[in-house]
Amino acid sequence: MHLFPYRHIDKTKITKIADLTPSVDYAQVQGKLWYYETVGDRSSRRLTAFLTDETGVIELTWFKGINWIEKSLKQNQAYNVFGRINFFMGKVQIVHPEMELVINGPTPAKSYLEPVYSSTEKLKSRGLGGRQIGKLTACLFSLLSEENLLENLPQSLISKLRFLPRYEAFKQIHFPVSNQSYEQALRRLKFEEFFITQLRLAKVRFERHRKSKGVVFSKVGELFNSFYRDHLPFELTAAQKRVVKEIRTDTGSGHQMNRLLQGDVGSGKTIVALLIMLLAVDNGYQSCLMAPTEILAQQHFHNISELLHGLPVGVHLLTGSTPVRERKFILQALAEGNLSIIIGTHALIEEVVQFKNLGLAVIDEQHRFGVAQRASLWKKAVIPPHILVMTATPIPRTLAMTDFGDLDYSIMDELPPGRQPVITVHRYDTYRPKVMDFIRTEIDRGRQVYIIFPLIEESSKLDYENLMKGYENVKAFFPEPGYWISMVHGRQHAGQKETNMQRFISKDTQIMVSTTVIEVGVNVPNATVMVIENAEKFGLSQLHQLRGRVGRGSEKSYCILMTSTKLGSEARERIKIMTSTNNGFEIAEKDLELRGPGEIEGTKQSGALNFKLADIVKDKAILETAKKFAEVVIEEDPELESAENLQLKNYLLSLHGKTPWSKIS
Ligand code: ADP
Ligand code: MG
Repeated sequence: MHLFPYRHIDKTKITKIADLTPSVDYAQVQGKLWYYETVGDRSSRRLTAFLTDETGVIELTWFKGINWIEKSLKQNQAYNVFGRINFFMGKVQIVHPEMELVINGPTPAKSYLEPVYSSTEKLKSRGLGGRQIGKLTACLFSLLSEENLLENLPQSLISKLRFLPRYEAFKQIHFPVSNQSYEQALRRLKFEEFFITQLRLAKVRFERHRKSKGVVFSKVGELFNSFYRDHLPFELTAAQKRVVKEIRTDTGSGHQMNRLLQGDVGSGKTIVALLIMLLAVDNGYQSCLMAPTEILAQQHFHNISELLHGLPVGVHLLTGSTPVRERKFILQALAEGNLSIIIGTHALIEEVVQFKNLGLAVIDEQHRFGVAQRASLWKKAVIPPHILVMTATPIPRTLAMTDFGDLDYSIMDELPPGRQPVITVHRYDTYRPKVMDFIRTEIDRGRQVYIIFPLIEESSKLDYENLMKGYENVKAFFPEPGYWISMVHGRQHAGQKETNMQRFISKDTQIMVSTTVIEVGVNVPNATVMVIENAEKFGLSQLHQLRGRVGRGSEKSYCILMTSTKLGSEARERIKIMTSTNNGFEIAEKDLELRGPGEIEGTKQSGALNFKLADIVKDKAILETAKKFAEVVIEEDPELESAENLQLKNYLLSLHGKTPWSKIS
């Protein structure tokens, strides 16, 4: 029932040959086989036949299976012929038509459109081709009725949205009486797919809002206030203020917060996290901030230590390379509650790390932390801590709705004032000497430069050689001792990577040659140029992330996308988007449109891919509607107890265990 046809063929009409025009796609004609012959030899051999009705002649041609077909053709017999209509040198023809001998007078046209199902070579070889699947489906329908293909949507919804009843929708999607009824069936079943998912997500969210127990940050205390008053280095943007407020409401509600904070690169998420951590401390709770890498954790540690300078609160750093003695001290202090704010890597979620009263966990750059890792944080306190997940990889709205629909989310769509947009240009490889000249002037002005090479697969030898060649090339343009270059790539040990990165951060080197291992979030405000080699090999969100490494200071910054002159149309489109906008959300939407949900990072097990008919890009409007109605249903009747929602409830129960819902939340 759920193996849907990918198209239909229309044999409901018989067209007169004279009425065939180039605008006709597929058609069925009926006539007499007038004459046939084989022409050409060997590879150009083909069988040609001519069929006439009272209005004209159509040519039928075969290039394959000629012998077999020739034997089966009967001159002067009537045939029903179906196929794609071609016009060749002004003459109408069908190549490889479907032929059906008309035995007892003309066969009547079909009363419905015939479904075409996809099959596989393997299935076909076992006799289960598209046609056989069609027969099985027809057989299935002869056994089914409204009695056993039950309605699952509430009646009021069906009438409000003018949907076909469920049984009818299934019937019409397989065997529609017209294109229009097919479209109606499709609309209803797509809605159903989205609606059921949205209903479950809305329920998870609702339960958390209503039933979960969370620690309460009831007061804004001295620490928060004096930081806000005396230590904040800048005025918060309106977006930052709004998000802080949203989170304060959450954390004061008594229910556990599970919030996703999306903010474009440089929108200032760190300070928001810090403010909430201070709020936790004010209320007597510990908080932790987890970063995906050691470098990022250190950066956060330095930034935050500096920001908190002079305030009566300590910050500590725990990573894989924290010395044993210090580590011991930190673990003990955390367990005893003598330490309020801890920053670190995944070292923080190890079993041995115990908190006295963890109230808040902030997870920076979410897409690298798995669901299981997040869940392990919950076990670190009797009442699960509030969770704030931050990401600079904007998630398109529809994807967020399907994949993070159980989370609440906040968006920071505003950059701090005075930020200059990064100027992005596209240059062909032939232009490289000029690019190098430009880099030189920037370095001479005291700036620093990133040059990124694609390393699609960490293990690929070719990519690695490409990087080394690139490095030598850069070195030839910028020889020591006038210039110093750092290089970072995935084959280096963590320690070596660290050292090279650190040299760039401390301005010992002016150029950073790297693969994409330079992490998201790395902050070197003095770097003003980002050169991306073979830019056509990167996806849009990756390009945007890389570009986000520059433009972090007050200086004008540049992103130069290098490509060869040979560019595919999709790559050209990506480059065009990059040079036309700096807005991460816009880019994320385009990325989803260009690549489809299956290719977006982190969506391999995505809920967005569980849909058979619906598509989160093309059916955005249906998704919005489904979400809206799902929320209303859950709001009004969370347990689905009303008579009207009973069939919905039964349907959900019948699905139990069939969908890996845990993966979504
Ligand atoms: P991201 O959202 O990418 O994590 P950060 O939190 O690292 O961004 O902030 C980027 C830079 O912007 C930092 O140097 C930070 O100090 C600065 N910043 C953050 N908020 C503001 C603001 N409201 N006004 C001015 N600068 C800000
Ligand atoms: Mg950040």
